[in-house]
Amino acid sequence: MDIVELNAWELAEKLKKGEISSRTLTEAYLERIEKIDSRLRAYITVCPEEALKQADEADERLKEDRGVTPLTGIPVALKDIFSTKGIKTTCGSKILENYIPPFDATVVERLKGAGAVILGKLNMDEFAMGSSTENSAFFPTLNPWDPERVPGGSSGGSAAAVSASECAISIGTDTGGSIRQPAALCGVVGLKPTYGLVSRYGMIAFASSLDQAGPMARCVKDCAITLSLIAGRDAKDSTSLHAPIHDYQSYLDGNIKGMKIGIPEEYFIEGLHPDVDKAVKEAIKVLEGLGAELVDVRLPHTEYAVSVYYLVATSEASSNLARYDGVKYGLRIDEGGGLLDMYRLTRDRGFGAEVKRRIMLGTYSLSAGYYEAYYRKASQVRTLIKQDFENAFKVCDVIVTPTSPTPAFRLGERLADPLTMYLSDIFTISCNLAGIPGISLPCGFTEEGLPVGLQFLGRFLDETSILRAAYAFEQATEWHKKRPPVEKFSEGD
Ligand code: GLN
Repeated sequence: MDIVELNAWELAEKLKKGEISSRTLTEAYLERIEKIDSRLRAYITVCPEEALKQADEADERLKEDRGVTPLTGIPVALKDIFSTKGIKTTCGSKILENYIPPFDATVVERLKGAGAVILGKLNMDEFAMGSSTENSAFFPTLNPWDPERVPGGSSGGSAAAVSASECAISIGTDTGGSIRQPAALCGVVGLKPTYGLVSRYGMIAFASSLDQAGPMARCVKDCAITLSLIAGRDAKDSTSLHAPIHDYQSYLDGNIKGMKIGIPEEYFIEGLHPDVDKAVKEAIKVLEGLGAELVDVRLPHTEYAVSVYYLVATSEASSNLARYDGVKYGLRIDEGGGLLDMYRLTRDRGFGAEVKRRIMLGTYSLSAGYYEAYYRKASQVRTLIKQDFENAFKVCDVIVTPTSPTPAFRLGERLADPLTMYLSDIFTISCNLAGIPGISLPCGFTEEGLPVGLQFLGRFLDETSILRAAYAFEQATEWHKKRPPVEKFSEGD
């Protein structure tokens, strides 16, 4: 196996023993990116100079055994939604195409503090609105398993880069499924923590009551390790929680005997791809074989989740995106027609079609006369969805579901019909509305060889249980060891 394909925790052991240096490792990842990314297109920006400098610093730190963490010297990459000091941060949008932040997001600061090496910034749907990465203002990213298919979204670059071993770990964000759905479609692990566990400071806002950052990696342990290092109260984000941060990795023992796993019938619906259905049901049998106790649970308000989400998320987006006006930062198009004309031209040319659609929807549902009927109503149903989970967790410890109703779809297939695209997130959205944690990990392949994802949902702040369940399943199966045929993306093939 190529060094770039190893799990981050394995690389960390080699770094610690001095078997490899962070510089060699970073060079290996940069070579991989050079070789395949002109076709795969997971990266918007690659930062070789900064990365090599950070690698040399990490090597010093390792040599002196000074504050070494499990991420010291490990090459990671970030969704282009995280502000990075001195490095272009586009959020997948023309309106921020040339924006260079003067500060680091808290997540970036913590990764750097842990000694991680930042390889670059990954492609995404514009302002994280989408499920395929086709809404990127720059280019779509391809699925490493099949170049004719999407990697999912909106953290499609983050999922594809991990899957194709263009970084050891990536960081994504999840407002309605954007970590878990692309993780499922690319065959990697993706964790959305409890709302407020990871600071949102410096993470470009989409829907502030739903947005949450989290790790994406090739195994559960790497996600656990990363979470321990990026989680925690941050005075710069007033919604960040005063919650105890665990050493999540220490809970991964592979033992789920007696764990109560809830199965919600609302997630096994018509329209579920037969191969996904089959893989998930087989996965549930594996869990049972490991000694878990299966219980039927009901989440009766699931059918409203997509509608509620598209009212809450668009309302918050319309408010958050008001700041892009050509005055403060980012694009400005001024053709001499006065201030209003400058606003209009900047927003018209700076935003893509999906972002405009959401701003209009959100502005409408917040406007006088409609607020009560749409936004207020949606917020009330959101509470019911949250209560569904509270009730279900009275009789189970975690809930298991498919992550996405279908495997990776073809490029262009859902672009003409926004509703079909919105339904890609039918199984991931409720978790954000309730604020609870969720994880997706590989649980099989379709007949066409496309990865299928299994999702665990947990109680508020109970990351430990979903990580334990996911780890036990992973250790009992081989799915996470499969790597995509990246040779297909090499230049000249
Ligand atoms: N696909 C969903 C949307 O388009 C979720 C996006 C996300 O989680 N950022 O809004």
